[in-house]
Amino acid sequence: MKLQAVRGFKDWLPEDFRRYHYLCEVSRKILSLYGFEEVKIPILERTELYVRSIGEVTDIVQKETYTFIDRNGESLTLRPEATAGICRMVIEKSVYAKQKPIRFFTIGPMFRHERPQKGRLREFYQVSVEYFGDITPFVEAELINLSMHILKEPEKEFGSFLHPLRLEINSLGCPECRPSYREYLVSALKEKKDELCKTCQERLERNPLRVLDCKEDACKRVVSGLKTLNEFWCSACREHFTKLSGLLSSLGLKFFHNPYLVRGLDYYVRTIFEIKAEGLSAQDTVCAGGRYDYLVEELGGPKLPGIGFAIGVERWGLVVFGEDRAVPERQALVFIAPLGDQANELALKLSYELRVRGIKTVPSYEDKSLKAKLRFADKLGVEYVLILGEDEISQNKVCLKDMKRGTQELLPLDDIAFLVNRIKSQAE
Ligand SMILES: [Zn+2]
Ligand SMILES: [Zn+2]
Repeated sequence: MKLQAVRGFKDWLPEDFRRYHYLCEVSRKILSLYGFEEVKIPILERTELYVRSIGEVTDIVQKETYTFIDRNGESLTLRPEATAGICRMVIEKSVYAKQKPIRFFTIGPMFRHERPQKGRLREFYQVSVEYFGDITPFVEAELINLSMHILKEPEKEFGSFLHPLRLEINSLGCPECRPSYREYLVSALKEKKDELCKTCQERLERNPLRVLDCKEDACKRVVSGLKTLNEFWCSACREHFTKLSGLLSSLGLKFFHNPYLVRGLDYYVRTIFEIKAEGLSAQDTVCAGGRYDYLVEELGGPKLPGIGFAIGVERWGLVVFGEDRAVPERQALVFIAPLGDQANELALKLSYELRVRGIKTVPSYEDKSLKAKLRFADKLGVEYVLILGEDEISQNKVCLKDMKRGTQELLPLDDIAFLVNRIKSQAE
C-alpha cells in the first residue's frame, strides 16, 4: 500500500508555511496592540475537560473528538478547540488571582473528526483569543472589533478581499430567558419532527438550538415558521443587545443580527458572533466567538466570566490569498555560483561571512555550468548572484550580478564589509 497522509490532515509545503507564518505575524501584531499575551496549552487534555466544558450531549463530544485510552489507561482527547484548555490553565495556575482582566491568546492546531470537505480539515489551525473579567458591552464590542481588525489587516498589503467579510451577531439569552425558549422550541419542533433531517431529529432533545442553524433545506423551512430567540429575551438581555449594537455602530462596524445564529457549544450565553466570508464555500465561517459566563466556574474555578473567539487560519488564508496567491519573500536572497572545487571552498566561507552579517545566502555546490546556475537562480527569483569563477579568483575578486537590472561589477573578495554594503545599498 502506498503511504499517504491521514484523511483530513494536510502537509504543508514551504509556500503553505509562508502563508501561515504571515497570518500568525499579523495576528500577533494586532493582538499585542490590544494588550493580549500569547500562551500555550497542551494539544492533549483529559477527556473529562471537554465532557465538562463542551458538554456530553454536543455533536463535538459525541461524534467529533479524537479520544483514546493511553498506556496508563487514562482517557485523553486531542483538543477540539482551545477555550476549555485555557480555562483549565487559568484555574490550575491561579492566573485570575494575579491579574484581572486576563487577555490571552494561543495559536495552534485543533482536531475534529468531521467529514472532510472544502475548507474543512480534521487538523486545522486556530488563532484563539480569550478575555476573562467583568464582561460588559464595552468589552464585547472591543473583542468583536479586534476580531475584525485582525482579519482585515492583510487588506492593507494585498488589497480588498475577493470574498467580503460579513459580521453577524446574536444573543443566546441568559439562564433567565433561554430555558423558556428552549421549551418552546422543543415542543414546536416535535410537532414537525418528521420534516426534519435525521441529524436534527436526534438533536431535538439533547441540543435543540442546533436545529436553528442546520444547513438542510427541510430544516430551514421548519425553522422559518417558528418564533426566534429574541422574542423570548428578558429585558436585561434586550437592553444589553441594544447597547452592544450601538457601540458596534459607533466603531463604524457594519453588522447583521442573525436570529438563527447559534453555537454547537453549551457554554455560551448572551452575545455570540460569527464572521463569514461571503461566497467562500459551504464552509464560510472564518471566525466565531461568544461569551461564556459560567464555564470557569463549571470547571471548578472561581466566578470568572469570559469571552473569546477563534479564527480559522486555513479559511482566513483562502480569503486573503485565494488558492494560489503567494506571500512575497521579505528578505532578498543572495545566490553564490562557484565554479570548481577551489571556488566551492571560497563559497562555503563567503556564505558564512554573509550570513553572520544578516544576509540570506545560498551557495550552489552542484557540478553545473555557470549558465545552468544562473538559470536556476532566475527560477528561484533571486535578485543577486555572486559569481566565483577562475578569472575572479585569480584577481581575488567576486562578481556581483544584479539579476533584475542585468548589471554586474567586480568587487574585492577579501573586503566583506564593502561587499555587504554593496549588496545592501543595491537592495534599497
Ligand atoms: Zn435574558
Ligand atoms: Zn437538520
